[in-house]
Amino acid sequence: MIPSILPTYSRAPLTFVEGQGSWLLERSGRRFLDFGAGIAVNALGHANPTLVAALKEQANKIWHLSNLYEIPEQQALADALVDATFADTVFFTNSGTESCELAVKMARKYWYEKGQPDRVEIITFEGAFHGRSSAAIAAAGSEKMTKGFGPLLPGFVHLAWPGEDGDLSAVETAITDKTAAIFIEPIQGEGGIRPLPDGTLKALRALCDKHGIILGLDEVQCGMGRTGKLFAHEWAGIKPDVMMVAKGIGGGFPLGAVLATEEAASGMTGGTHGSTYGGNPLACAVGKAVMDTVSDEPFLEHVRARAGQLRQGLEGLIATHPEVFESVRGTGLMLGIKCVVPNLEVVQSGYAEGILTVPAADNVLRLLPALNITAEDISEALTRLDHAASALKAS
Ligand SMILES: *Cc1c(COP(=O)(O)O)cnc(C)c1O
Repeated sequence: MIPSILPTYSRAPLTFVEGQGSWLLERSGRRFLDFGAGIAVNALGHANPTLVAALKEQANKIWHLSNLYEIPEQQALADALVDATFADTVFFTNSGTESCELAVKMARKYWYEKGQPDRVEIITFEGAFHGRSSAAIAAAGSEKMTKGFGPLLPGFVHLAWPGEDGDLSAVETAITDKTAAIFIEPIQGEGGIRPLPDGTLKALRALCDKHGIILGLDEVQCGMGRTGKLFAHEWAGIKPDVMMVAKGIGGGFPLGAVLATEEAASGMTGGTHGSTYGGNPLACAVGKAVMDTVSDEPFLEHVRARAGQLRQGLEGLIATHPEVFESVRGTGLMLGIKCVVPNLEVVQSGYAEGILTVPAADNVLRLLPALNITAEDISEALTRLDHAASALKAS
């Protein structure tokens, strides 16, 4: 008999009943250090007092308003995002995949309105993850996500990940008079914490400028302070035309956004897109509290300092356990450990030691703690990962 919850996930037998900062309390009474943070969602930890206050205050005023009316909380968050980024305009969604949907529509509509309706193709890359909607799985293109769900939305051109040597000749060759945009994650998350080198992202920007096409960055996982900058592309000193955001922006409340320049957004005129819930007052009140915290330079400095501590500790763990861990990669508090043993075994061993981590492709263990994690909690996590690795060697 089918379970009452559609069985698309294989779940660990853990039931968390309460959270506090970087810690989760399991039903059994055991405490776990949360180094998954809901997959980079709980950016400010669990039960953050500032976010709880923002949610409660808004809950006593208005939960939902249609986008048929002005929504002051939405306006305030949009203004904050525009002030802090390359963007001139923002559309709010409820998830990453919805942000990717709009980004696809925006890129195509841009060229349609420019009198080039054949420019519909979007170049994407192997290992990409843009969500689970029909457009997003077609964009990623992997068999794992698309098999059985055809016919797929046409118009995506899938290229090898250019991360390793920065060679963009295959990308340039793939650009034709049908190309509308290039979509890429500055650091692949699900794909195994694969960072695009700054030089490669710069060269990609130059290539888009040369051919006049749209650069769309998926910062759903790597954005909102995760890398120690507000958005990951800032490390490369470039600006995208369109950016997809979600996960951390709501700090645990479902919220996403598409940020765009005025030019890239020029096709999206009245009536061309909409969302019932997108930008609702509850989500935006929490999002604004997240944004106020995360966009503050001393906060980002804290992220970089804790990231340095974590990375150094992980390098030590790799030296101590070369039979378990191979190397560390990523930026800021978006780190991955390439494993020697199957990554799922390390995740499981972590459960036994009271630490939550997340597997990713390429046999990588993802570490995505809350951005406001303390130095003590990072030390404790390193101790628990050390024990988890030792337990694997003993078994
Ligand atoms: C998680 C993720 C998405 C999809 O977000 P959902 O909120 O699950 O729809 C898209 N892109 C990237 C890079 C992600 O990490």
